[in-house]
Amino acid sequence: MARYTEAQCRICRREGDKLFLKGDRCYSEKCSFTRRGYAPGMHGQMRRKPTSYCIQLREKQKVRRMYGMMETQFRGVFRRAESMKGVTGDNLLMLLETRLDNATYRAGFAASRNDARQLVRHGHVKVNGRRVNIPSYQVRVGDVIEIRAKSKGLKRIAEAVVQADRKTPFAWIETDRPNFKATVKSMPGREDFAGILPGLDEDGKMKIREEFIVELYSK
Ligand code: SF4
Repeated sequence: MARYTEAQCRICRREGDKLFLKGDRCYSEKCSFTRRGYAPGMHGQMRRKPTSYCIQLREKQKVRRMYGMMETQFRGVFRRAESMKGVTGDNLLMLLETRLDNATYRAGFAASRNDARQLVRHGHVKVNGRRVNIPSYQVRVGDVIEIRAKSKGLKRIAEAVVQADRKTPFAWIETDRPNFKATVKSMPGREDFAGILPGLDEDGKMKIREEFIVELYSK
């Protein structure tokens, strides 16, 4: 499976936003974006007026990279969102949030989405009692996500759980961290993201402007 393997912090700097791709480091002073909040490369500090196409493209790239997906896969999710009832942008966010790797990360069992993806790929995660090793698996209301009994002693999971306990919980996913379990209570909507620190602006809204992605793919 293809995936992006180069420096993660370059992505944040390229997209001009903190995407929280590295777990604990992202909350520390070591964060590259905090220290050098401009695009990488020798022309990174040049000021250019972005075109509307550039704004749309960057928004799409930001969201795609935030969820650690390749272009073909991301476009596939968009097409699915488009074919569903309701607002395409909202459907897109809902489909991205309910991926198993993201749900594992949101439940607090992994420090980052990349880490969560690896946990899923390596078979450490079960859904409704069955091992699922597909990161793009879509969780549904009532699904129980849990860490396999043998994997509960893993240091990386224990550390992620301690970190997650300090963060604001998500309304759509109910966690029972001492037992390494989480239950999907509802499908995530925009209102569910209020009060969560990563990827939010000061009003508690997600920084994602999904309307630009819809415009880009609708050309
Ligand atoms: Fe790197 Fe995380 Fe900071 Fe992004 S938010 S620049 S991934 S440390």
